[in-house]
Amino acid sequence: MAASLALPVNGHAAEADVIVIGAGAAGIAAAHELRAAGRRAIVLEARDRVGGRAFTDTALGTPYDAGAMFIHWAERNPWVQIARDLGVATSDESWGGGFRVFAGGQPMAEADRQRRRGAFGQIDRRLETVDLTKRDVSIRDLLGDLGPDLAPIASSGLLLSIGEESERISARDYQRLWAGEDLVVPSGYGHLVARHGAGLDIRLSQPVSEIRWDGPGVSVTTPSGTLRAQACIITVPVGVLKAGSIRFTPALPARTRDALDGIGMGALTKIALKVEGERFGITPGTSFLEAGSPKRLMNFDLFPEGKDLIVAFCGGDHARELSAAGPEAARDHLTTLLSSMIGSDIRKAVTGISFPAWWTDPFSRGSYSVCLPGREAAREQLAEPIGGRLFIAGEATAGGGAMTVGGATLAGRAAAAAVARIKA
Ligand SMILES: Cc1cc2nc3c(=O)[nH]c(=O)nc-3n(C[C@H](O)[C@H](O)[C@H](O)COP(=O)(O)OP(=O)(O)OC[C@H]3O[C@@H](n4cnc5c(N)ncnc54)[C@H](O)[C@@H]3O)c2cc1C
Repeated sequence: MAASLALPVNGHAAEADVIVIGAGAAGIAAAHELRAAGRRAIVLEARDRVGGRAFTDTALGTPYDAGAMFIHWAERNPWVQIARDLGVATSDESWGGGFRVFAGGQPMAEADRQRRRGAFGQIDRRLETVDLTKRDVSIRDLLGDLGPDLAPIASSGLLLSIGEESERISARDYQRLWAGEDLVVPSGYGHLVARHGAGLDIRLSQPVSEIRWDGPGVSVTTPSGTLRAQACIITVPVGVLKAGSIRFTPALPARTRDALDGIGMGALTKIALKVEGERFGITPGTSFLEAGSPKRLMNFDLFPEGKDLIVAFCGGDHARELSAAGPEAARDHLTTLLSSMIGSDIRKAVTGISFPAWWTDPFSRGSYSVCLPGREAAREQLAEPIGGRLFIAGEATAGGGAMTVGGATLAGRAAAAAVARIKA
């Protein structure tokens, strides 16, 4: 066990060796790693729950994953082992009820579907042939020669994967994202992440408003008072840091602020509707895609795993508009789309809505980090230690594992390992 770092900070006894801010996947991973290294860590979490953007929502009585759902690139994802250790089942089964594409509420004509399919492969094809070593481009520029008709269709799938518009996505960053097998956690990925936090010193409902690092260690202010430690691991989402909700004294260095300027937040958004009784002749697990407008793509997972839910998801500016409009407007929009596809009785059958709008949520301010064109190095830049005592971690600093729970976990572990190397 390494010696404790709990030396006096600004003349006061330190409450912990390390303060970890945020109890999502990264913060939990950092706290476990620190404990294994013999360091005392306190985790401060703003919300009244653990898990962050891994969240199994039970507001409608039927649980579904409102944030992360897939254990991506399972071959190297630490969550496969964590689930195994906790005795939580994972599955590679998709719901398998089929997939139907609509345009304006009507089944899309076969010729249009073929055009869509042809357009979809264009991003990967170009990434294989275009030389990005000399300069980065946006995905929109990458597809520029496809023309104004096909390019939006080719990039529309990114709204549902990256959650962002193609002009705000770095092709280099997109290219380096890890790929592999996807698994799901039938009992809820969010529940699994929260369970992994059990036994750690996590203090809920403690939004951090200030981090002082002008003395020898750090002082962290929450509504319950000030805590001191030798170092701080900051795992709040990039959107929260960009919004300035946490004051740094002194201000973050120019290099860190520049890194934050290079990273945006996507707006992948899920909205769940409770649909009781009626199934409209639809096989549970079927997906419908309303693709009449490429900019306003909306996917519906209907009765996934036989649940009495329809989970809609969308991304980019359309999701931002819906988040700003709020749950009632979203419900109206979704039931209008569904009415055209399966009949107006759906309006009566919908008995509830749950809409955890990540874009407007003050503790996430978006779904996950997206590097702007030309700024793919910003992730590594953001992870550079500050003053030997502030360490920014989380999905945004996870390189090829960015945007995922697995990546956040690896980044949290890496930050904790760096802190543990500080001499006591
Ligand atoms: C709709 C959606 C779908 C997704 N799908 C997948 C998927 O299928 N697979 C996948 O791997 N990933 C997916 N992700 C991404 C994944 O959820 C995130 O990458 C991951 O959970 C991020 O973990 P983190 O620890 O970096 O950040 P977070 O989970 O956001 O944790 C940060 C914590 O900091 C807290 N916090 C914020 N501000 C403060 C403050 N001032 N003081 C104290 N605490 C604060 C937050 O409440 C939060 O708990 C999805 C995300 C969304 C939104």
